[in-house]
Amino acid sequence: MSTRTIDICIVGAGPRGTVALERVCANAPLLSPGQDVHVHVVDPYPVGGGRVWKFDQPRELLMNTVAGDVTVFTDQTVTCEGPLTPGPTQYQWARMVADGLVTDVSDEAKAEAAQMEAWSYASRAFQGEYLGWSFRHIVERAPAGVSVSVHQTRAVSVTESPDGMQEVRLEGEDLPLRVDAVVLAQGHYDVAPTTREQHLIDFAARHGLHYVAPNSPAEADLSWVTAGEPVIVRGLGLNFYDYMILLSEGRGGHFVTEGDGLRYLPSGEEPVMYAGSGRGMPYRARAEIKQEVVPRYKPDFITATEIAELRLGAGTGRTDFLRDLFPLVAKEVAWVYYRALLKDTAPEGHARLVAEFPGLSWGSPRMERLIEELVPDPELRFDWKRLDRPADGIGFAGQAAFREWITAQLAEDLRHSRLGPERSAVKAAAAVMRDLREEVRAVISHQGISGASYRDHIDRWFSGLNNYAASGPPATRVAQLLALVRAGIVEPLGPRMKVSAEEDDGVFLASSPDVPGTEVRATALVEAHLPLTDVRRATDPLLASLRAAGECRAHFIPDADGGGYETGGLDVTESTFQVVRGDGTPHPARFSYGPPVESVQWVTAIGARPHVNSRTLLQGDSIARSCLRQGMARLARLDADDAARRETATTVPLAG
Ligand SMILES: Cc1cc2nc3c(=O)[nH]c(=O)nc-3n(C[C@H](O)[C@H](O)[C@H](O)COP(=O)(O)OP(=O)(O)OC[C@H]3O[C@@H](n4cnc5c(N)ncnc54)[C@H](O)[C@@H]3O)c2cc1C
Repeated sequence: MSTRTIDICIVGAGPRGTVALERVCANAPLLSPGQDVHVHVVDPYPVGGGRVWKFDQPRELLMNTVAGDVTVFTDQTVTCEGPLTPGPTQYQWARMVADGLVTDVSDEAKAEAAQMEAWSYASRAFQGEYLGWSFRHIVERAPAGVSVSVHQTRAVSVTESPDGMQEVRLEGEDLPLRVDAVVLAQGHYDVAPTTREQHLIDFAARHGLHYVAPNSPAEADLSWVTAGEPVIVRGLGLNFYDYMILLSEGRGGHFVTEGDGLRYLPSGEEPVMYAGSGRGMPYRARAEIKQEVVPRYKPDFITATEIAELRLGAGTGRTDFLRDLFPLVAKEVAWVYYRALLKDTAPEGHARLVAEFPGLSWGSPRMERLIEELVPDPELRFDWKRLDRPADGIGFAGQAAFREWITAQLAEDLRHSRLGPERSAVKAAAAVMRDLREEVRAVISHQGISGASYRDHIDRWFSGLNNYAASGPPATRVAQLLALVRAGIVEPLGPRMKVSAEEDDGVFLASSPDVPGTEVRATALVEAHLPLTDVRRATDPLLASLRAAGECRAHFIPDADGGGYETGGLDVTESTFQVVRGDGTPHPARFSYGPPVESVQWVTAIGARPHVNSRTLLQGDSIARSCLRQGMARLARLDADDAARRETATTVPLAG
């Protein structure tokens, strides 16, 4: 039966589900005035934080975003169509907690809030409390007529009834929710292991070993790790830093300040982590910037005109990242880097750079000559190859030599991080790489480049490099890593790390071909990275059933020659985020954004940032408005049907 209430279901109550709810509340009075709107929010985890930001996770696990840079609310910079309804950033909320204006929080959160600066990295548990409060605040200030119910369970399917209503089935509930529109804000949903991972799971089971498949470290069971046990850790990104801290401080050890660094005092319960990756170098520390609001870099070369021109090739497979966009990215990064390098030390060189650099093409002989003349020391020049593969060509005599090299690298990175982008050209370049993601995203998302280019240049190279250089952990994590290497708790393995499952011996074997003598045999292997969202491998019942029914599909990026690259991204339409069915038609009442649509858009996992016209907030607004319009369209149809019925009733002649 059709009701006169507009019903919307949001699947997933993490940050994006929360944003979508807030945007429905903000837009309802304008798009559905006088109309009752009911929002069903479904998530087995606590609303607001959802699964990633649970408040009962170890407090050692930190965000890698500073408190002043986290929000779920719109601000004056957001150019969405709906009304702006500001709310506190995480930092502003921490101030409210510290000042006693918010009291319904845990004692741990109060203690954390009291110490918090805008540039602090909150614990993930704290973020969970901020998001939980935000969710409650949004519900409390919801306009008249808008109501919300929370279903603390899993959504298992969405089907369409003959009258066009969406029926969302929930685990443990007999009757489906009947709604006008569904928002799939499912974030990092569950996927089946890859073939390689399954092979390692089976191998570990056969030999009684421990294999930790890609997972969120907060969810991994590490209780089996014994003191002194060698554990191979594959991956040196953000996940690695989580495992590093869970298996050190989380085991009762302590870091104490020593000089301008840290020393680790072990508890004796730690394993020995043999850690490596392809690059062999852990993610670089974020720069320390002691400001509440850090403006976004405004590019000089990747302008709106350039982006619009590059977008003309979208969908044709003719645009190539490396040929058409990377030169602009490289020029922009070098422009920032060399200005920062020369501005204080070589004012004349700086003046010449400013006069000549903008007119030259990246990589041209004249550009190279200019750089050579201005920066005679090759070690000081910005070198993408060296940034990407810092250990290449060095030649290490053995593990001690590699350890010495990597500790020097980490210490140098820490020094740059503490100088910040104002005083370190390296960190100025890293900051701009991070900000330029917006422009890169604008060009390459929604089939902006060819499939081959997306696969080879983005998935296999640029995304990883960007994360490594520009999206690393807080500087304290690098200081802690240094202390753990010195304490022998972390043993860096070296670049081009290889791990094999040794069937005869029943062990994992890890080594680096670039560091002689690094062979490590262990009974435990930890994959230190998140599983990639991939709708083709979804074990999440809702997404899996949608795909099986041809109601959604994996995103495809064409090449110019007729081939292409199928990614695991959930295909959605550009700007309206409607889920695209197997036959290529967009569904009018189903929407998705965030991690499920990765590769349709680039770098979707990042949460909303204040003061930067956040894409997440724009997208949430657009989706919320579409949901309300969908409901209003049904009500208009109901009104039309009622009118037609009344008309028929008055014109039919009465019998007899
Ligand atoms: C360990 C980790 C650390 C991170 N750290 C940072 C950071 O410091 N800064 C940053 O900007 N980003 C970070 N991220 C990225 C993170 O993805 C985003 O910040 C943000 O959490 C994404 O929000 P979301 O709402 O899109 O997805 P999520 O936060 O993943 O939320 C999705 C929700 O959907 C629910 N869900 C899924 N399927 C169903 C279903 N079938 N039925 C009901 N509910 C369902 C899940 O339970 C979950 O609660 C981190 C991610 C991880 C995994």
